[in-house]
Amino acid sequence: LPELKDKVAVVTGAASGIGRATAVALAQQGMKVCLVDLKNERREQVKQQLADMKAEVMTADVDVSDPNRVHQAFDAAAKQWGRIDAVFANAGINGVLSPIEDMKPEDWDHTLFVNLKGTFLCVKHAIPHMKQNGGSIIITSSINGSRVFSNFGMSAYSTSKAGQVAFAKMAALELARYKIRVNVICPGSIKTNISENTHPTPELDKIKIPVKYPEGSQPLEHAPGQPEQVADLVAFLASDAASHITGTELFIDGAESLI
Ligand code: NAD
Repeated sequence: LPELKDKVAVVTGAASGIGRATAVALAQQGMKVCLVDLKNERREQVKQQLADMKAEVMTADVDVSDPNRVHQAFDAAAKQWGRIDAVFANAGINGVLSPIEDMKPEDWDHTLFVNLKGTFLCVKHAIPHMKQNGGSIIITSSINGSRVFSNFGMSAYSTSKAGQVAFAKMAALELARYKIRVNVICPGSIKTNISENTHPTPELDKIKIPVKYPEGSQPLEHAPGQPEQVADLVAFLASDAASHITGTELFIDGAESLI
């Protein structure tokens, strides 16, 4: 993807999993990458990994649900490199998994704040730096946002992920005038560290019903996907090879959402 060389990407949730693999994939294409995450130690390890690849890299210590920090991070990346061409709005958490009747409102809010408000803030603060030259925004939703609703206790997560799909489509239409493409990807189970930000409550057992297939079962490979497989899709969407693709929801799940 030669056209990505020397272009600028901002990747959120870049310290781990899908974000990390994507930061590496974009750097391999010659992009300059701003790594956004609140996990400082891991983020610095990824920075080192990219620097070892001779990539240009910067980091931002940001909670994506904090408007000021997000604003500062996008301004800093644009100041450093003069432009922003691609944004991977990917930071997210599973949060507290609980039956709805036991869900604490503050736990609901936290999941919605990180996953949904965080996505909105990243797109909002990217626009001023992208509207001149156009570019590509890719948002990480999930199969739990539009096709799969059998992961018990994930009402807040699924709602946030469904909201991202609607938001991406609104943004695609609104930002088409600036030649900014916006797409949303819906991964199935991917092997990452997301369980660290997953907090099932004991009450969950009350609402479980037997499911036909074990969670994470994927017909294509009979195993969860790898973050690098998602990263390849993001690099494609960031590139001119996807120049006519916007407002689209792409499933990357080995057919997990079809069973
Ligand atoms: P991960 O936990 O390995 O990585 C997520 C990263 O986001 C972490 O480094 C974490 O520190 C960061 N993060 C969390 N909250 C943040 C905040 N408020 N501000 C900034 N950074 C924050 O998980 P992952 O699986 O790579 O998750 C990436 C995205 O993929 C998420 O949006 C998740 O919902 C989505 N997703 C994951 C799977 C899966 O099976 N792993 C499936 C579908 C969708």
